[in-house]
Amino acid sequence: CKIDYQARPDLLNGRVILVTGAGDGIGREAAKAYAAHGATVILLGRTVAKLEAVYDEIEAAGSPQPAIFPLNFEGATLKDFHDMAETLDKEFGRLDGVLHNAGLLGRLTPFEQYDPALWEQVMQVNANGPVWMTQALLPLLLSSDDASLVFTSSSVGRKGRAYWGAYAVSKFATEGFMQVLAEEFVNHPGIRINSLNPGATRTQMRKTAYPGEDPNGLRRPSDIMPTYLWLMGPDSRGVTGQQIDAQPPRS
Ligand code: NDP
Repeated sequence: CKIDYQARPDLLNGRVILVTGAGDGIGREAAKAYAAHGATVILLGRTVAKLEAVYDEIEAAGSPQPAIFPLNFEGATLKDFHDMAETLDKEFGRLDGVLHNAGLLGRLTPFEQYDPALWEQVMQVNANGPVWMTQALLPLLLSSDDASLVFTSSSVGRKGRAYWGAYAVSKFATEGFMQVLAEEFVNHPGIRINSLNPGATRTQMRKTAYPGEDPNGLRRPSDIMPTYLWLMGPDSRGVTGQQIDAQPPRS
């Protein structure tokens, strides 16, 4: 956990960073933080109006001009991911980081009642989509001399919890994929691959999962950005295959 990390203003200068689920919650804040530290950010998500709002905020802040990439992980095909890689190569010629952040909660429900279609949907958005997107983007990432691949996990992706169903299983899959990939590239100095658990954070997803909770007791997305910046930028060079937490556990 690097909650006290202080990123220098030019930390990500010249880098191109893709953030999925950049229209809301933690992804929105991460996209703005990366741009504010000099990165050209590619805003990927399924609701274009939200991405446009983030785009406008980044422009208004005077950060490098971002780009919008509309994509819905449900229904996205291998061809979509390969077309994306081609477009990024053509437009930017490089990719120095991916924050896999888009996520779907599904429903908290006893497994006996879990709807199979919803299970598939959650696995697709949280695990399978990001896997195939990663395969398509790897050649571009490997041509960067300092790429960071960050997968978003959850505490229920490290220890299972009753009723969390496909969400928990998809996060275990994410952790597993991160470890497999990190080991495959452990001797490649140009890429590091880690998972990041944001911890309880004040967003719509958290509100849906814990409707009775007072959100004022939770950290905001902006509070956890130090760890997000550290892991994306050069100060985490050499760190790979690790399960990182963005905030200390709550007492
Ligand atoms: P939000 O629900 O606020 O944001 C999720 C983002 O993912 C939204 O931008 C959403 O787009 C996007 N998304 C959802 N489905 C798709 C899809 N099919 N295709 C493309 N984009 C999609 O959640 P958080 O910001 O809270 O969560 C961000 C990440 O952090 C998730 O991976 C979550 O699992 C994880 N996390 C969050 C915690 C918390 O306490 N908040 C705790 C632990 C983990 P749209 O806005 O269009 O719906």
